[in-house]
Amino acid sequence: MKAWEKNIRRVTPYTPGEQPRQSNVIKLNTNENPYPPSPQVAEVLRQYTTDTMRKYPAVDAQPLVDEIAAFYGLEPQQVFVGVGSDDVLAMCFLTFFNSDRPVFFPDITYSFYDVWAELFRIPYERRPLDERFEIRAEDYYQENGGVIFPNPNAPTGVLLPLEAVEDIILHNQDVIVIVDEAYIDFGGTSALELIEKYENLLVVQTFSKSRSLAGMRIGYAMGNKKLIGYLNDVKYSFNSYTMNEMALALGTAAIQDHTYFEETTAKIIVTRERAKEEFRKLGFTFGDSRTNFLFVTHRTCPAKEIFEALKEKGIYVRYWNKPRISNHLRVTIGTDEEMDRLFAFLREYLGKE
Ligand SMILES: *Cc1c(COP(=O)(O)O)cnc(C)c1O
Repeated sequence: MKAWEKNIRRVTPYTPGEQPRQSNVIKLNTNENPYPPSPQVAEVLRQYTTDTMRKYPAVDAQPLVDEIAAFYGLEPQQVFVGVGSDDVLAMCFLTFFNSDRPVFFPDITYSFYDVWAELFRIPYERRPLDERFEIRAEDYYQENGGVIFPNPNAPTGVLLPLEAVEDIILHNQDVIVIVDEAYIDFGGTSALELIEKYENLLVVQTFSKSRSLAGMRIGYAMGNKKLIGYLNDVKYSFNSYTMNEMALALGTAAIQDHTYFEETTAKIIVTRERAKEEFRKLGFTFGDSRTNFLFVTHRTCPAKEIFEALKEKGIYVRYWNKPRISNHLRVTIGTDEEMDRLFAFLREYLGKE
């Protein structure tokens, strides 16, 4: 090793799901929304001019922050936006997890958490999910340096009831508790209603899944004004203009279209419930997902084999060769037609027809 290499901050990066180059694949591997964003987003895009690009974007991320606040009935000072919730969550780790005590998160969870902890040198401890892949609130009662978990959890899809979420917050009032609600719009109850009651709670959401804007990179955190103020201080010490002008404009159009949002999320929920029946008939088992994906395991056929056979067929799902989950597949809910093609292949592959 060269002497200068000793000074380098070395990290093992997060591995995102594959983005295959071919266009004829069925892409069920990164939890993207199968439907396009709201037609109002397309309309704003049509009217967009390059003159807007000459200037710096609004440093306070207006009008997007105001629209998000209006949608949830909050004040703008209770909303922080960033370049996808990944950016927001990274800022949260940097801002709120500064203790010598370990930050707690589940052993099976969003695999970016330990990457940020390593990057920022934050001590952490994984709290194992129970045998049904559920979070046990009691596992979060010990002293710690902060708590973060997705709800519903990913990649399990399992929703923790709001009472259990509140129980975790109640037992952790000396640290910041972050609930990562990337999938909450697909059938869960948000912890947002608790932000007035608990000043140490931060709720993080994204436009990437339920608002079909993964490519635009828009995420947000909601909490009390003090927490949001601390987040903004860190952001302004890092990069004042994280959100580009076009993302601000298109995101604003997306959140204004309530009807389209409700229609498309409802459609995905219907397809998901149908997919549960199909998977069950094919001999798969899974938890009760409240997200836009299912985390499935087959009674006899190894997940890795199914994963490879599907990929061969141009159907991409997600597989992790990791402890406890190496016999599971995470399958994003696509359109009905995409799901039908998935099930047609699986029926044939598993020899049911
Ligand atoms: C998708 C996802 C995110 C991040 O999404 P962005 O595209 O960065 O907004 C965060 N947390 C979980 C659990 C996710 O699944």
